[in-house]
Amino acid sequence: MDRARALDSEHAATDLRGRFRLPAGLVYLDGNSLGALPAGVAEAVADVVHRQWGNRLIASWNEADWWGAPTRVGDRIGELVGAGAGQLVCTDSTTVNLYKCVVAAARMRPGRGVVLTDPASFPTDLYVTRAAARDAGLTVELVSPADAPARIVALGDALALASYSSVDYRTGELWDLPAITDAAHAVGALACWDLCHSAGVLEVGLDEHGADLAVGCGYKYLNGGPGAPAFLYVARRHQDAFDQPLSGWNGHATPFAMAPDFTPAPGITRGRVGTPPLLSMLALEAALHAYDAVRVADLRARSLSLTGLFLECLDALAPEVEVVTPRDPARRGSQVSLRHPAAYGVVQALIARDVVGDFREADIVRLGFAPMYLSHVDVVRAAEHLRAVLDGREHERPEFARRATVT
Ligand SMILES: *Cc1c(COP(=O)(O)O)cnc(C)c1O
Repeated sequence: MDRARALDSEHAATDLRGRFRLPAGLVYLDGNSLGALPAGVAEAVADVVHRQWGNRLIASWNEADWWGAPTRVGDRIGELVGAGAGQLVCTDSTTVNLYKCVVAAARMRPGRGVVLTDPASFPTDLYVTRAAARDAGLTVELVSPADAPARIVALGDALALASYSSVDYRTGELWDLPAITDAAHAVGALACWDLCHSAGVLEVGLDEHGADLAVGCGYKYLNGGPGAPAFLYVARRHQDAFDQPLSGWNGHATPFAMAPDFTPAPGITRGRVGTPPLLSMLALEAALHAYDAVRVADLRARSLSLTGLFLECLDALAPEVEVVTPRDPARRGSQVSLRHPAAYGVVQALIARDVVGDFREADIVRLGFAPMYLSHVDVVRAAEHLRAVLDGREHERPEFARRATVT
């Protein structure tokens, strides 16, 4: 505990818990699933509802620039993932944006038949990649990111797109975005990255590493709130060729000309489809103020310090528990996942002790460490509660075996 306090002093500059509204005493290790509520969001949403909507009504499309929100919010997220302005748009869901990317990639690489992705992908990524591949005439090939560079070379000009998550949602493993991107480029293919578990906690460097396309969620580490809209990145050099399949009037070059034929807007705006969910999008915009004057590199340092300390605590307090997250910091996202035969019960027993993580099939206890609102003291507390749960066999209690709809 003394060491935790010392680490908290060392990292005092990135202790941003005061920017969040979290219940006292809660150790919230699920910010990778639903981020905490940042201060100021409730007030901002109240203003949108009462003044912008209630008083100003339709005038707010211009006065409050509701129309420009998707690209305005997109640019702010872009700063957090290393993308220059004009390359991100806040729109739709991650699932829908991935569909756009896979189909657009097929159209950008005609004559190439394969999209490569991870068999361990988040299920929606697999489902929608298969759906998009079917619609675009591609074949899906499943290869772990660890084996992707070699497979990419072997596929050569058969490969249209390598589509991977930068962090595995289940194990927390951080994959080699630059290497896979370079390998795809070396054979003339494109690389698309799902940043759901990286955006806001580690330096992704989309521009720096030459990524082509990317998607990600607004409600995880970006704290945009339940159902917050997602984002879509298209590198500027590809935007003219980005022919995405969901033509909608918000992505039209002249939406208010009400033309019968579709002409895509220039730039990233062509990634838009229909009218955006403005209450959610403006909540996300307000939430992103939690990142004001914060460097993602500093958050990454804090995150690695938190997860590193948690791994040390596990070694000391619960050495029998299998850790599935890589110990090498260079290969670790911002979570630590444990394997336990009664993982569901362990998660429920921890929640009863105000340590909130989540369960992922089949036997994973997933603990996310959102660096802005967690301290090293929280980390030690979480490990101590885990020890107590296991010692008391609390995970075997019948009330912790009942599965809720959302796990
Ligand atoms: C959370 C998550 C999603 C969720 O997609 P939605 O369209 O928002 O439901 C997709 N992919 C990955 C990798 C995720 O972690």
